[in-house]
Amino acid sequence: MHELSIALEIARIADESAVRAGAARVVRVQVSVGELSGVDPDALAFAWEAARAGWSRCQNARLELCWIELRVFCPQCGVETDPRPHSVACGRCGSLRTRVVAGKELDVVSLEVERDDAADGAGAQPGTVAQRRTGGRPAE
Ligand SMILES: [Zn+2]
Repeated sequence: MHELSIALEIARIADESAVRAGAARVVRVQVSVGELSGVDPDALAFAWEAARAGWSRCQNARLELCWIELRVFCPQCGVETDPRPHSVACGRCGSLRTRVVAGKELDVVSLEVERDDAADGAGAQPGTVAQRRTGGRPAE
């Protein structure tokens, strides 16, 4: 299953980022999923349940998927449009000579992590660590 390997990669990135941030746990992982990424969001959400179990810092982490609709730029019209259904054809003139400007995303956008701050007893401090691409899909 394609989505399981992606979910495992997301969990690995989240866990490594938590380690770098000195965090005890990952609370939330935000991933943007483009329409053209080839990822089924439901399958990915399902795979996440299995994937996170293998990483101690991710076991209770919530996966939030951010769906990115396909957008194309048409050099002929000089505008960005929502393409015609099931294609990358310009929504205005129908030209196929378009450039995809959004919809290929498969990125870890942000992570929320918690530290164990036992010293002051104030509990965990949420934090955000820098984003990192899941890789394999070069940006345009
Ligand atoms: Zn056009």
